[in-house]
Amino acid sequence: MINYSEARARLVMDLVNEGFITSKAVERAMLTVPREEFLPSYLRLYAYEDYPLEVMYKQTISAPHMVAMMCELLNLRPGLKVLEVGTGTGYHAAVVAEVMERRGEVYTIEYYPGLALYAVQNLAKLGYLNVVRVFVGDGSRGLPQYAPFDRILVTAAAPKVPPKLLEQLSDDGIMVIPLEEGRIHQVLYVVTKEKGVVRMKPVIPVSFVRMRYTESGE
Ligand code: SAH
Repeated sequence: MINYSEARARLVMDLVNEGFITSKAVERAMLTVPREEFLPSYLRLYAYEDYPLEVMYKQTISAPHMVAMMCELLNLRPGLKVLEVGTGTGYHAAVVAEVMERRGEVYTIEYYPGLALYAVQNLAKLGYLNVVRVFVGDGSRGLPQYAPFDRILVTAAAPKVPPKLLEQLSDDGIMVIPLEEGRIHQVLYVVTKEKGVVRMKPVIPVSFVRMRYTESGE
């Protein structure tokens, strides 16, 4: 039997030492959310290995260091309204909710209904559904009916920043998004909007599943 909480604590200590976790809020959240609960039973053994895992429909749960780093870049605090594109297992959405001390609103949208249902089940059993709302659809269009969002977290790589997402980012908002550069390379960007001025800062090369992206969504 694996002692999951010990394994989790060890991984979080590594992520602090490696510089991926820099705030107490993200450290606490990563120590709190049980990643094993977001995995099918045959993958639980690997819950606290720091790499992505393929879950279903060829989609992945991001590596823990990537989840931590993206949460740090989002500069989260209680009370914010956050949009996540690419719910997957629901793990990242739970970590975001936990960084905000479960006070705030997380809207997350998933393309595959089967994965969205899986995420809802995972989030429900851990009591996150009063903070996290799961939607099925094309997240490159965002969720206009709930916009604007203080933070937007994109967990699938897009060819460019989807214009609808930029529109739905509030002033002073922060978006974290992996963008494709050429056919193979992807770079994680922090996109900010201040008094209508958009700035894009490249952070690190990354490797995400591709976003389903519809130009007609513009
Ligand atoms: N955040 C997830 C990891 C997601 S992997 C987790 O913590 O587990 C990326 C997810 O984005 C996949 O589930 C994929 O199906 C979804 N996706 C890809 N394109 C999308 C789109 N246009 N709209 C919504 N979801 C999308």
